[in-house]
Amino acid sequence: MKVCIIGNNLTSLALAKALVNKEIFVDILYKYKNISLDKTRTIGLSKSNINFFIKNISNINKILWPIKKIKIFSENSGNKEIIKFNDPNNNLFSIMSNYKLYNQLNSELCKNKYYKSKKSISLKSLIKLDHDLIINCDHNHEITKKLFFKKFEKNYDSFAFTTIIEHKKLIMNNTAIQIFTNRGPVAFLPISNNKTSVVYSMRSKVNENNFDMKKFISRFNSFYEIQKINKISKFQLKALSLRKYYKSNILAFGDLLHKLHPLAGQGFNMSVRDINKLLNVIDRRIELGLPLDQTVCKEFQNQTKSDNFIFSEGIDFVYEFFNSQNTIRNKLVDTTIKYIGKNKFLNEYFKKIADVGLKT
Ligand SMILES: Cc1cc2nc3c(=O)[nH]c(=O)nc-3n(C[C@H](O)[C@H](O)[C@H](O)COP(=O)(O)OP(=O)(O)OC[C@H]3O[C@@H](n4cnc5c(N)ncnc54)[C@H](O)[C@@H]3O)c2cc1C
Repeated sequence: MKVCIIGNNLTSLALAKALVNKEIFVDILYKYKNISLDKTRTIGLSKSNINFFIKNISNINKILWPIKKIKIFSENSGNKEIIKFNDPNNNLFSIMSNYKLYNQLNSELCKNKYYKSKKSISLKSLIKLDHDLIINCDHNHEITKKLFFKKFEKNYDSFAFTTIIEHKKLIMNNTAIQIFTNRGPVAFLPISNNKTSVVYSMRSKVNENNFDMKKFISRFNSFYEIQKINKISKFQLKALSLRKYYKSNILAFGDLLHKLHPLAGQGFNMSVRDINKLLNVIDRRIELGLPLDQTVCKEFQNQTKSDNFIFSEGIDFVYEFFNSQNTIRNKLVDTTIKYIGKNKFLNEYFKKIADVGLKT
């Protein structure tokens, strides 16, 4: 059995590692062998996804930083926290740097005999190579433009700013902080006792070149004694859901299937849940002695597409609800968050959805 994965991004490497662990041959096709990794980017991974990742993909324990508490504020509530989540017995989720995960997966794959990486080729030449399955994770490959162009897309008229702040060492830097500012949410996500990643999604129709992110951080930070603010990255935010996940034995995957607003930190978590579902489909076929062919793509789409769509729409709803500049709505937002925080059932329900998605 031989699978081809197009693209050498985080999702491609995680999926490739999951497949070679099952002794399936994987060819990764890359456009640029050494991609320059944005060191300001971090990913929050849920508890259940961490367990799955460690068991089936790679032991990421060493690169994870645990989050034990989440505190939520809003610009209008001043410095008063409006809700907090904590779980005294467990971590709520964990944060890791994208580049650390990438380097770990890349170095493990390079040592694996089932793995090869090659320069990308055209669709016509690729089909001649006769892989059982082709999985496309590359936004820029011609396959995406030819086969996977029908999608629901939304431009948030927002820009994401990401950076890492270095600050005085805290004894326990394990609390994630989210502030709903009048122009969008900003999150402070600890990655060590003296470093915290900052993710701000700012509503703006135009690219405001004179926006001062450092000033913004100083304005909303009352938690850390900041010593240095590292390089700041900035990019436009979009959401998308692909209408059809596959064409014959070619399956689209990862951010190509669903791109979300980063508000809830769920984009990569969804892709990890997708890897889990795809592995189950593949396992069942192997057990039954069946080949890996386009029925894998069909079954995967049947199992994931509607849940993924509902989940993405849910995140979009949360974004729209919490991002109004209207003062009456702002009060409603604060009241709703407080209600969710105090209501034990809703509090647990939201924690569970963020951890395992729609299905338990
Ligand atoms: C600011 C930010 C914070 C995030 N935080 C989390 C998190 O805490 N937990 C989590 O599970 N997922 C998170 N995600 C999503 C996660 O980063 C992507 O799913 C993952 O990086 C896909 O990487 P890739 O290399 O596989 O895909 P690629 O296809 O190579 O990368 C996709 C590209 O799109 C960018 N991107 C991702 N989402 C969007 C978006 N909505 N709009 C515009 N560009 C986007 C990525 O930065 C990357 O450059 C976040 C995304 C953004 C933009």
